[in-house]
Amino acid sequence: MKTVQTVKKNLRKYGSFCESSVLEDIERLSEQLKGARILHINATAFGGGVAEILHTLIPLMNDCGLEVDWKVIEAPSEFFDLTKRMHNALQGKEDVLSKEDRSLFESVTKENARFIEASKYDVVVIHDPQPVGLPVFANFGSSKLVWRCHIDTSSPNPAFWEYLNSFLASYNAGIFTLKSYAKEGISIGEIYEIAPSIDPLSNKNRDLSNVELTNAVKKLGVDIRRPIITQVSRFDPWKDPMGVVDVYRGLKKRFEGLQLLMIGSMASDDPEGWKIYEDLLRYTGMDYDVKILSNFQGIGDIEVNASQRLSDVVIQKSLREGFALTMSEAMWKRTPVVGGNVGGIPLQIHHGVNGYLVNSIDETIEYTGKILENPIMAEEMGNKGYEIVRRNFLSTRHLYQYLQLFSDLIV
Ligand code: UDP
Repeated sequence: MKTVQTVKKNLRKYGSFCESSVLEDIERLSEQLKGARILHINATAFGGGVAEILHTLIPLMNDCGLEVDWKVIEAPSEFFDLTKRMHNALQGKEDVLSKEDRSLFESVTKENARFIEASKYDVVVIHDPQPVGLPVFANFGSSKLVWRCHIDTSSPNPAFWEYLNSFLASYNAGIFTLKSYAKEGISIGEIYEIAPSIDPLSNKNRDLSNVELTNAVKKLGVDIRRPIITQVSRFDPWKDPMGVVDVYRGLKKRFEGLQLLMIGSMASDDPEGWKIYEDLLRYTGMDYDVKILSNFQGIGDIEVNASQRLSDVVIQKSLREGFALTMSEAMWKRTPVVGGNVGGIPLQIHHGVNGYLVNSIDETIEYTGKILENPIMAEEMGNKGYEIVRRNFLSTRHLYQYLQLFSDLIV
């Protein structure tokens, strides 16, 4: 298991974005929890939504006076192949869990469990399925255990769900983005509903200077005088990247100058990414108005930020989705959004208010086209989206809910 370092953050700087009562509530709980020792464990320090959130919440918890560490498990690539299959199966994909799969999962978990020190922490928060088995093989002593599930487990493959559930009885609490993701018969007694959040001050979301924007445009290779639609996502079948290309092709007939930007980082725990990236390059062929970019071409937080700002519409055409931080990120930049009507996306998109919810490629073409041809409506939608995020999906609200949970467990 490896320790992840985070950069310091100051909660006071977030005051201008949220209601003052939220900061007061956080301060009250921080007082009760001063010195509480917390450990977060997940599978990767970079790539995807979980790492994104932890890089903000952990420093903010430390700033509140808690003593918070972050560790990631270490495992061979076969383990991450298996856990990606588990992730897909837990979102409903057909698959068979073999005896060898179980033995690989358990042996890697056991190996990582050796690094756990009993009772060193008051609360240990374990994220997603990769490290879920640790409590069975490690001695956590008197630490309270929380499992944070970031995926939509509402209609899972039964064999994989049963296997996952066999590890859950050791936990004191579970956190799901929606309570309905926790299937009936789940072995955790206490379920909390907590939505993810974005950090308004991170490089991903803060305001950009003109120089930063100009440099980003060069890296992205887009022409800002022509319309741009964008999807920012891991290269993953549930994010339906080929579907997004079909949407672009459907729209290109009406909007001749249209450009499509597909930005996808490669996470170290996501071996499927490369295969889909290559397929996508083949699928889009020689169309130079489609840009397929990743962190390997120097596309980092500032370029993602710029792409969400410069786009006319940001799409998230997911077929299954735990939450989709990319939607709140785009909304925070006052960009209208079109997202799959699945998982956590309807929490963020109010159909016809700040964007549209869609159920098919045809609907995505129809509604994205509607926004592209109506700039006044697009601007109004962008402003409404910003307000939805400000009220519901910023780090301060998220931090408050975590502190409430810690207080329920240990105060
Ligand atoms: N992301 C990024 N670069 C990319 C692709 C994704 O920084 O090329 C970020 C994206 O901005 C978001 C996170 O990765 O913050 C993805 O989170 P989301 O909840 O949308 O999906 P997940 O990857 O967790 O399924």
